[in-house]
Amino acid sequence: MSIGVGIVGAAGRMGQELVREVYGHEALRLAAACESPGSPAVGRDAHAVAGIGEPAGVIIGDDLEAMVRACDVVIDFTAPAVSVKVAALCAEHGKALVVGTTGLDAAQGEKLAAAAERVPVVWAPNMSVGVNVLIGLVEQAARTLGASYDIELVETHHRHKKDAPSGTALRLARAAAEGTRELGTFEERANYGREGLDPRRPHQIGIHAVRGGDVVGDHTISFCTDGERVELSHRASSRRTFTQGAVRAASWVHGRDAGLYDMRDVLGL
Ligand code: NAD
Repeated sequence: MSIGVGIVGAAGRMGQELVREVYGHEALRLAAACESPGSPAVGRDAHAVAGIGEPAGVIIGDDLEAMVRACDVVIDFTAPAVSVKVAALCAEHGKALVVGTTGLDAAQGEKLAAAAERVPVVWAPNMSVGVNVLIGLVEQAARTLGASYDIELVETHHRHKKDAPSGTALRLARAAAEGTRELGTFEERANYGREGLDPRRPHQIGIHAVRGGDVVGDHTISFCTDGERVELSHRASSRRTFTQGAVRAASWVHGRDAGLYDMRDVLGL
């Protein structure tokens, strides 16, 4: 029996890619899709919107609750306020959830965690295998290189990205802080987009966001000291790297115990 997937934001950049990814997956089937009320995609076949010739037989709706009821696992790459609503509906109807949305504030994160007390939720700012391996490497490099290396992170994304810095940048910077936790917390050390008379303080973690064009997502974290610089980079060249991770998470999370998981749990890292 295949697992029925519901895709929220099915006409978005990630949503369309997810519809295509589920189409090619042997264990998953598209069971429901929804979009923002008023979107021109509402009322259209999900495959037609995603550019697939063969109809899905699934019409994109605008009723989140109806979509949640019609599937086994929900995949949500939308916007923070939407993801929080979807999480509450999944908790109410006992459905597993994969959330890729970034830019949630602390209160929204707590609402997701509250839903995860009732149903299994995978929430990760980056679903690519490479970035999740990189998170471990960054923590290890920070721990090994230690206090004499300055840590700076630069990320670049397409011109439409709403949140800055990216959720991935924050996750990588937190991993670096975790590796050098004796130097202070992430919150004490993070410095966003340095400007003006702002010389580097010891143990700061600099985080910088660049926006332009169609860049899918680049992240470089540098460890700089007198005489050398170590750089660890990830460059995504296709959104498929995220959607392959998301469908892998959807297969993994179905049938799990309630709890908040991340992509490193899914990948067994
Ligand atoms: P997008 O704007 O192209 O797509 C979002 C879609 O959600 C839009 O089509 C919008 O109409 C829809 N939407 C808004 N309100 C809705 C509602 N109430 N009900 C149903 N649908 C609704 O954005 P995108 O580039 O696809 O990115 C979406 C999110 O995914 C962002 O937060 C982005 O940072 C994140 N993202 C995460 C990863 C990852 O690996 N975790 C990778 C890429 C992007």
